[in-house]
Amino acid sequence: MGRRRGHNKQSSSGNNNDNNCSSHQQVTRMMVDDEDLDETTESSNLDDPISDEPDDSLIGGDKTSADYYFDSYSHFGIHEEMLKDTVRTKTYQNVIYQNGFLFRNKVVLDVGAGTGILSLFCAKAGAKHVYAVECSQMADMAKEIVEANGFSNGDYYSRRLLIHKYFSHTPLSVITVLKGKVEEIVLPVAQVDIIISEWMGYFLLFENMLDTVLYARNKWLINDGIVLPDRASLYLTAIEDSDYKEDKIEFWNNVYGFDMCCIKKQAMIEPLVDTVDQNQMVTNCQLLKTMDISKMSPGDVSFTAPFKLVAERNDYIHALVAYFDVMFTKCHKLTGFSTGPRSRATHWKQTVLYLVDVLTICEGETVVGSMTVAPNKKNPRDVGIMLKYSLNGQHSQVSRTQHYKMR
Ligand code: SAH
Repeated sequence: MGRRRGHNKQSSSGNNNDNNCSSHQQVTRMMVDDEDLDETTESSNLDDPISDEPDDSLIGGDKTSADYYFDSYSHFGIHEEMLKDTVRTKTYQNVIYQNGFLFRNKVVLDVGAGTGILSLFCAKAGAKHVYAVECSQMADMAKEIVEANGFSNGDYYSRRLLIHKYFSHTPLSVITVLKGKVEEIVLPVAQVDIIISEWMGYFLLFENMLDTVLYARNKWLINDGIVLPDRASLYLTAIEDSDYKEDKIEFWNNVYGFDMCCIKKQAMIEPLVDTVDQNQMVTNCQLLKTMDISKMSPGDVSFTAPFKLVAERNDYIHALVAYFDVMFTKCHKLTGFSTGPRSRATHWKQTVLYLVDVLTICEGETVVGSMTVAPNKKNPRDVGIMLKYSLNGQHSQVSRTQHYKMR
């Protein structure tokens, strides 16, 4: 998952290689073009055609926007975005198809199944039974999808005859979709061999679905069972980002001639989810934290990690950037993917934390500090970040603490 917030600035095309880093620049370019416009020539949209009222039956007439707000995974759009993120989805597919030995005749639990895509992969790879648990309305679609592809209970005997007749080597598997929260459902079996999930949010931990995976692991996973993926790491780097900081933060200084600086403070607190051009990176990348999903406890999602970022050239630093990777270490061959600026873009993009100070840094100088990450006490789906940083350089001497909130 990656979510999946409505106010994310650019629509992502996670699978689009060529798009890596471009959206950031596009917006900057648009801003420059706008400035070129003479005030009087700016057009309104009065001449734009007004579209007809949409047909309710096509958009789920019984749902209101409030339903979607509280249950964004019920809408297919978010699943479309995730499925089209080929870095994400194909990595899971490869992990499952290329490691059939892990799945053959095993009982699998898919935590947060969405459309059921991971369950279908597992079934096709020969799992004996897959329990697909999904709490949103998408569970109803997952049931239909499972049926349409011949993996439901009802199809079992007819499929057994058909499949075994022609492909006697094909194992028989069945998917049971359970609609409800992992924390509340009754699983028809006492134990499972494998837990698979795509739980990662922006900044890895936004939405805190990892807790749900750990809950399922503690409750149902057999002793030597496996969790996929089983390793997640968070990284930090520093970027030059003057144009975009100007556009996103300094913008509030003067809005049509009015001072809206109070919003600037809020804009600084909310990390920005966007793609960063790898050429903007001024320092090395520092590993902050690695989590072993098969062993960690829920409390481990709160941590403080020190960092030391060494400048690789003379430049300005406007922001620190966080990103993550996930690994499937139980595979035949170590497999995983990264959401970093140097990797193919995913729908998670990167998370940009703007600094109050613009740091002027010389090659070899270091920004040192620590990052503290913890779920918000009032709303555990939100993540609080405290950043302490200092630079004692030739041109900048800065020491500061900043607080951010992913929400
Ligand atoms: N596995 C799918 C969907 C991943 S998105 C895929 O890879 O495409 C994560 C899904 O988990 C969402 O559909 C969300 O509704 C579901 N989810 C989140 N928390 C859950 C919980 N506690 N119980 C059941 N489902 C949950």
